[in-house]
Formats: sequence, structure tokens, C-alpha cells
Amino acid sequence: MKLATGITRIGNGQLIDGTGAPAVPNATLIVEDGRIAYVGPAVGAPAPQPDERLIDARGGTILPGLIEAHYHPTYFNVAALEDLDIKYPVEYVTLLAANNCKLALECGYTAARSGGSLFNIDVWLKKAIEEDLALGPRLAASGREICGVGGLMDWNPDFRRIGMEGLVLLVNGPVEARAAVRKLVKDGVEWVKTYPTGDAASPDWNDHHTLCMTFEEMHAVVQTAHNHKLKVTGHCRANLGIKNALRAGYDTIEHATFMDPEALDLLMQRRTPVVCALQFEKASVELGPSIGMSQAVVDGHKETLEAGVESARMILKAGGRMGLGGDYGFAWTPHGTYAKELTFFVQDAGFTPLETLRCATLGGAEVMGREREIGSLEAGKLADVLVVDGDPLSDISILEDRSRFLAVMQGGIVKAGRTAGQRS
Ligand SMILES: [Zn+2]
Repeated sequence: MKLATGITRIGNGQLIDGTGAPAVPNATLIVEDGRIAYVGPAVGAPAPQPDERLIDARGGTILPGLIEAHYHPTYFNVAALEDLDIKYPVEYVTLLAANNCKLALECGYTAARSGGSLFNIDVWLKKAIEEDLALGPRLAASGREICGVGGLMDWNPDFRRIGMEGLVLLVNGPVEARAAVRKLVKDGVEWVKTYPTGDAASPDWNDHHTLCMTFEEMHAVVQTAHNHKLKVTGHCRANLGIKNALRAGYDTIEHATFMDPEALDLLMQRRTPVVCALQFEKASVELGPSIGMSQAVVDGHKETLEAGVESARMILKAGGRMGLGGDYGFAWTPHGTYAKELTFFVQDAGFTPLETLRCATLGGAEVMGREREIGSLEAGKLADVLVVDGDPLSDISILEDRSRFLAVMQGGIVKAGRTAGQRS
């Protein structure tokens, strides 16, 4: 991805730097050759240069670009998971995914970690975005997900001929788990996404089922992935599945829904980041009945929502690491509504706006393992910046409204927002 050349000064706004530090009123951020050269109070900023560009924050807020820590660019707002496999050919899903990535950038998301993709679409989208052929967040790609045969993602009997082969690699035992990771190595992924546990969305594999993958399979995945310098994450809701993942050496945990004190202790010992993804559960509870979800599934989502909020609060209180994001791309959680996750954490989970913004920026960068480069506004980091008209500390939901974005900047280049393309 190209970096900006020259100097850009963003001023006349409050600063939220993403580290959780209090906002700085009347701040200035100076970008030089795509990286942050100065960030802090306007009074301490270097003197203006004759040829610098100016972005007026107009009394609004300067904050880091948001990070979607569990992104599914290839989910095309489907009503049922199996639609991903049967509705469109890969060629068309690729175009839809490119459009979703552009939309995510317009929504202020300058980086995203894939939580699973149809085929290798995210691997190639990442390349297109890095080569400035397509617009989108800086992507960490995961390609296809790994699941045990007969597990959460393999519920269709053979006669239906819905194999989900675009989405998952099905494995039986540690030997096949190793083979699947080695295939993903060749595919060029950075992350290996697995399905160790069940989910409310699938009543036969509800949240308390742990053995969609055995510990031996999970351990084989981690050994092989780490050997090839790939990272591993997994859909972990059930308590034992969370512990298995942590003991197997997972690099992050998705959801971490049902945690007992021992699971929390393991999580804290290992400092493993978590992405809870809770707005999906709220939307499932609220909208599920109107889209034909059975009462058993809706009840399962309600239980998941309540336990997920409790886990998120426990992790925050214990000082754990957390990114925000999750499972946008279903009919009831469409692409473009990603910032509802932040609103949820403030309004429903009781996080402060600053805590929430830290999770959505630096926390996401920690999930990606890129916290030295992105995620906060600190001198030397890449200038991935969001300038918004308004104060998200008094109303976090303004981040859901991209018409309020003055600038979405990646590497110092304004890629979206009202000032995109302007030189002033
Ligand atoms: Zn997901």
C-alpha cells in the first residue's frame, strides 16, 4: 500500500489516541510521508510548512482508524449459512467481497483480521488492497476454516450435496488437521481459523458442545501452523473448548462465551486476545423471530448474549486484551453496520466509550499482532486516522454514521470521507 508523500496537518479537533488515555482537547496530528510525525496539543506542534496539506477537524474528533478484528469479507448478507456455499459462484462472491472491503474502509475501518473466507478470496483481496488495485482495510487473511467432520460447519447430510467446501476444510484426526494447515500454508494465509465448539445458531451443535474438534486435532493445527509462522484462532464458546484452545496454544480466541474462573485464569496467564462479537447475538435475538429462526435457536442466542456480556466484563475487569468486531455479513447484521459493535459495548455491555475505542483500535491491532505499526496515534506509526464530525465520547453511535466522517486516512492518504480527493 502506497504511503502519502509530504506533510499533512490535521487540527482543530479533540484527540483520542486509541491507547485508552483521556482525550486531548484542541490537538494537532502531523503526518509526514505516511507516518505520524507529531501528535498532541496544538500548542506544542511544529510550525506550519509552506507546502503542507491541511485537514480541518472542525471541532470534531481525531482518532485511529477502526479495526474489525473478526471480519468476513466474503459473507454477502446471507439469510442462511449454507447460502454461502450454494447461491453464487466464486467469481461473483469475489466481486461482492471487494465491494464489502471498500464499504468497510468507508465505514472508517482501516484494518481488519479475517475470521474465515470462502475459498482464498481474502488472500487475493489482501494482495489487491496492498497493491492499491482495490480499496479496503489492511487485511490479515485466513482463507478456509478448519472443522471436524460432522462438526458445527458440517451439518448437511450427504444427499443434500451441500459440502460447504468453499468455506471449510473438514478433518478427521490430527493427521488430517496437519494436512489441512499445510494446504492453507500453500494458499498463502496468515491465520488459521478453526471450529472447536458449537454455536446457538445450530441447535444440534449448541454452545455447550466442545468436541467439533478434539484437543489432539487443535494441538496438531497449532503445532503445524506455528511451525510455518501462521497464527491460529477458533470459534470457542463452550468452557472446555476455550480451555482446550488456550492449552493448545491458540493465538486468539473468538467469542470466549462460557468461561469459568479457571478459563479466565488461563486466558490471563497467556495474555491471549479475545474477540467477543456480541452485536451479532443481540441482532439474532431481536430479529431472529421475524426471519424464521426457531424459538430454540433464538433462546440459544439469548443465552449466548448474556454469557458473552458477562465474559467481556470479566476480561475487561481482569485487564485482558480484547478486539472488537464480528460476523457482519448476515441478513440481520449486514456489511456497513460494523460500528454497531462499539455502540453495543457502550450501551449494553457497560464499557466506557474510551475503553470501547481502545478495544476497537489498539485492541484490534493486538489481535492482528500489528500493534507496533497501527492501532493508535503515536509518533512513528502508520497514519491510519479517522476524523469524525462530533464527539464519540458523548455519543459513540456517531461512528455508525459515515456521512459524519471528514477523513478516513490510510498511510497518510485520505481514501474516504467528506474531504477525500480534496487538496486544501
Ligand atoms: Zn465468524
